[in-house]
Amino acid sequence: MTGFGQVAVVGAGWAGLACAAELAAAEIPVTVFEASRQLGGRARSVELDGRTLDNGQHLLVGAYVETLRLMRLVGAAPDALLLRMPLRLDYPGAFRLALPRLPAPWHLAAGLLAADGASLREKLSAAAFMQRLKASGFRLDRDTTVAAWLDRHRQHGAIRRFLWEPLCLAALNTPPQHASAQVFANVLRDSLGGPRDATDLLVQRADLGRVFPEQAGRYLGERGGRIRCAHRIREIERSGNGWRVAGEHFEHVVLAVAPQHVPSLLVSRPAHEPLLRLLADYDYEPIGTAYLAYPEPVRLPFPMLGLRGPLGQWVFDRSAQGGPAGLLAFVLSADGDWEKLDDEELATSLHAELTATVGPLPPPHWQRSIRERRATFRCRPDLPRPGPATAERGLWLAGDYTCGEYPATLEGAVRSGVAAARAVLAGK
Ligand SMILES: Cc1cc2nc3c(=O)[nH]c(=O)nc-3n(C[C@H](O)[C@H](O)[C@H](O)COP(=O)(O)OP(=O)(O)OC[C@H]3O[C@@H](n4cnc5c(N)ncnc54)[C@H](O)[C@@H]3O)c2cc1C
Repeated sequence: MTGFGQVAVVGAGWAGLACAAELAAAEIPVTVFEASRQLGGRARSVELDGRTLDNGQHLLVGAYVETLRLMRLVGAAPDALLLRMPLRLDYPGAFRLALPRLPAPWHLAAGLLAADGASLREKLSAAAFMQRLKASGFRLDRDTTVAAWLDRHRQHGAIRRFLWEPLCLAALNTPPQHASAQVFANVLRDSLGGPRDATDLLVQRADLGRVFPEQAGRYLGERGGRIRCAHRIREIERSGNGWRVAGEHFEHVVLAVAPQHVPSLLVSRPAHEPLLRLLADYDYEPIGTAYLAYPEPVRLPFPMLGLRGPLGQWVFDRSAQGGPAGLLAFVLSADGDWEKLDDEELATSLHAELTATVGPLPPPHWQRSIRERRATFRCRPDLPRPGPATAERGLWLAGDYTCGEYPATLEGAVRSGVAAARAVLAGK
């Protein structure tokens, strides 16, 4: 596109890469600055003792339509890179919900009615709850916590314990007693309340870097974009009608960094004080991923199983994700007792939780844990969320926290990046 100045994107997480890819598709010259040596931010591949793993076990769902579109745009084929399965929540011996391949909403109604481990009364109450939500357009009169909202709708018993609460924790990474009911309702609208394939689980078949970031980087390179890794931006300055970043002039700058990294970039610019005040009020939640390697014959009956705790929520069979046979990934969401344990204690406890669920197993011969202390912002009721526009012309925001409808997820990050790219294009 002629006459359109360069755009700088600061941060090569999924938001920054989605933004850059969308701009590159519109033939806008774009430069991405990334502080670390690799792409992907909070959803990236890591090397652990010679194994290529992820900084955290991730799960995508069929409702991630923008993520899937961006993957296709950059040439990362979702069918090859993601294993698509109808939703199945399996807590062996306690609860099982599997959605059949029927058109919406019958898949949900039939799945709920056939669930094992819940009374008929609970199932009918859950179906009626979804109906009421649909009738209200998934809009709450006023936001509250998920726990209070479930109480108000008399959602108790096994469906609350094994469906609503784990979904809330998995999607919002915020415990139900602190989580925003409106954001959870938005998630339900686009997943269980959406078309049948929106409820599908999409389990990676490769490490996270290969699912999107690496291919996005290649796509940018092919379209004349530049990626500067190991390049932390310390300040951005006004320069004529545009901006100076790392000694270069840009017409637009998109800050695609996590919310806790915004203040250091804007602190010297008084116009952004209200934004910085808003972000100063954010809290964060951790996520831990414990990898345990078992002797090869160990396989889970399904690629993802629910754990009844008290520490772990889910365990994933990495052999279904292109990993070695016998490697399992345990997910530990949000603040909890797991943080007090060292890696070895954690592995011992998770092994015990798994054997309590699936029966006796040989002990793991290798374990490593990765703890992301600020994995996501805490998705509280009425949390103020900025959009892509800022107080200064040509300076934009992207990042999961700017996608107001969604919690901190890959889909929220990608949507925020696309929204910022469209704002740049419209604001040219
Ligand atoms: C362990 C874990 C598990 C998760 N599980 C799931 C899941 O199952 N499903 C799901 O949908 N989501 C999940 N999430 C959330 C999801 O990963 C995030 O919402 C998403 O990756 C955020 O992307 P982002 O681009 O907004 O931010 P980030 O990924 O934080 O990207 C920001 C980038 O900016 C860079 N940066 C910061 N400051 C500067 C600077 N000054 N100069 C240059 N670069 C800078 C950073 O290095 C980083 O690469 C999980 C997150 C974690 C941590």
